[in-house]
Amino acid sequence: MSNVEILPQVTAFLDRRHGCFIDGQWVLAEGDSIAVVNPATGQTLCETLDAPLDIVERAVQSSHKAFKSGVWSSLRPADRERILLNFTRLVEEHAEELAQLETLSQGKSINMARALDLNATVEFMRYMSGWATKIEGQTFDVSIPLPPGARFTAFTKREPVGVVVGIVPWNFPLLIAAWKLMPALATGCTVIIKPAMETPLTAMRLAELALEAGIPAGVFNVVTGGGASVGGVLTSHPLVSKVSFTGSTAVGKSVGVACMENMTRFSLELGGKNPMIVLADADIGKAVQGAILGGLLNNGQVCAAASRFYVHRSIHDQFVEALAAAVSSMPIGDGMNCDAAINPLVSRKQQQSVLKHIELARKEGARVVTGGELLEGDGFFVQPTILADIDHSMAVAREEVFGPVLGVMPFDDEDAVIALANDNRYGLAASLWTNDLGKAMNLVPRIEAGTVWVNAHVLLDPAMPFGGVKQSGMGREFGRAVIEAYTELKSVCIAH
Ligand code: NAD
Repeated sequence: MSNVEILPQVTAFLDRRHGCFIDGQWVLAEGDSIAVVNPATGQTLCETLDAPLDIVERAVQSSHKAFKSGVWSSLRPADRERILLNFTRLVEEHAEELAQLETLSQGKSINMARALDLNATVEFMRYMSGWATKIEGQTFDVSIPLPPGARFTAFTKREPVGVVVGIVPWNFPLLIAAWKLMPALATGCTVIIKPAMETPLTAMRLAELALEAGIPAGVFNVVTGGGASVGGVLTSHPLVSKVSFTGSTAVGKSVGVACMENMTRFSLELGGKNPMIVLADADIGKAVQGAILGGLLNNGQVCAAASRFYVHRSIHDQFVEALAAAVSSMPIGDGMNCDAAINPLVSRKQQQSVLKHIELARKEGARVVTGGELLEGDGFFVQPTILADIDHSMAVAREEVFGPVLGVMPFDDEDAVIALANDNRYGLAASLWTNDLGKAMNLVPRIEAGTVWVNAHVLLDPAMPFGGVKQSGMGREFGRAVIEAYTELKSVCIAH
C-alpha cells in the first residue's frame, strides 16, 4: 500500500501519449507500444513507443547533424559547463517528480529513489559539468631528425568522439542514464539514450529538462523500444561513434561484436557475482550491516551487489544468525510505502528468474535460513533470502541472481578464500572485511575485480573509476577515465 501522495505532474506525465524525443520535440508515431508496469501492483502505468526503424534512423541523423553543426561542441567550454549546471539544477528542482516516476516504474523504495538515485544523479551531474572546462592534452619534446635543423612543437588535443549511444538497464534508470549522458555532454558529443523497456520514463523526462536548460535540440535524443530491435540498430549504425552499454554480459558481448563492424568505440559495464570476504578479526556487526546494504540495496538488483559471502568459520554461524535475524525483520511492501525496506523486483520475468535460482539452490542442497518464497499477490515480490550450506560449485554461488538472495559459505584459509573469490568468470567488485591493515594491503592486490572495498561494499563516487575485469566488462566509467573514453586523442606536430 502506498503512503506517498503522487504529484499531479507525475500523473500528467503518465497520462500523455508517449513518443521518442528527437531534435527537441516529441515524435509520435504509429507503431507497437510497450506497457510500463508498476511492479508493486502489476498494473500498467502507461504505454511507450516501440520505435520503428525510421524513427531510430531519424534520431541518429538528428544527433549526427547536431554534432557536425558544432552547435554544442564548438561552444566555449565555460558555456557548456554553465548550461550543464543549469540542467543539473533543473533535475534537482524536479527531484521528487523524478523519484516518483522511478519508484512507480522500477519498484524501488521511494526513500532510496530520493536519497540515492536522485542525490547521486545530481552529484554526478554537477561533478561531470565541471569537466567541460578541464579537458586537456599534453605537450611533447619530440626528436624528429628531418629535415636537418627543423624544430617541432608537438601536443595532443582531446576531441569529442561524435555521436554517443548510451544503452541503459532497468535497475538504476535515471542514474545510469546520467552516467552516460553527462560525460558525452561535458566532452562536446551528442548523445542518444536508449532506456530499458521496463523503465524508460525518467530518461524521457530528463530530455525535456535538458532542452529547458539550454542544451540545443538534437544534442540529446531519447529513443524507446526493444533491446534487439532499437538497440541493435543503434549499435551497428555507421554514424554512431561510441556505444556505452550497461547490462547483461550476454547482450554486452553482442554489442561489442556489432560495434567492431564499424570500429565504433564501446565500453561495457556488465554483470557481477561479487564476493564479500569476512576475515576472522572483522567487526561482525559492521559486516552484517555491510552485507544488508551491499546485498539488498535495490532489492539485490545491483551489478556490484555482494551476493556470495565467504565468512571465516570461527564467526560463520554468528554471522548467519545475525544476518538472518536482521533480514527477516525487514518490512516488505510497495516502493511508494515509505515504511517498506524490501520492495518488488522490476518485472514478473525477474521475479520468476530469482525464484528459479532459489529453487535450484534448494535442489543442490542449500539450506534456506530465511525467506525463499514469493509473496502472494499481483506485485513481483520475493522474500529476502539467506542461504547457508552452500558449496562454491553450486549455481547460486557462481551465477548472477540479481535479486535479494545472499549465499553464505565458511572458509578456513585466506589463500584458499582468495582462490575461491577469483574462481568466477566475473570480476566487477569485491569487498574485504578486516581490521588488520597489513592483511588488507596484502590481499587487495590479489583480488580480481575492478573495485575492491575494505570494510564497505557498493559505495561509488563520481571521481572513482568504476568498471569490471574479466567478463564484467571493458572500460571504466566516472572520473578522468570516462572523459578519456568519450574523446579521441589527436596528435598535432608543427614544424617551425
Ligand atoms: P540487458 O542486457 O537485458 O539489457 C540492458 C539494455 O540493453 C536494455 O536497455 C536493453 O533493452 C538493451 N538491449 C537488449 N538487447 C540488446 C541488443 N541486442 N543490442 C543493444 N541493446 C540491447 O540487461 P538488464 O536485464 O536490463 O539489466 C540487468 C543486467 O545488467 C545484469 O546482468 C546486471 O549485472 C547488469 N548491470 C551492470 C551494471 C554495471 O555497471 N556493470 C549496472 C547495472 C546492471
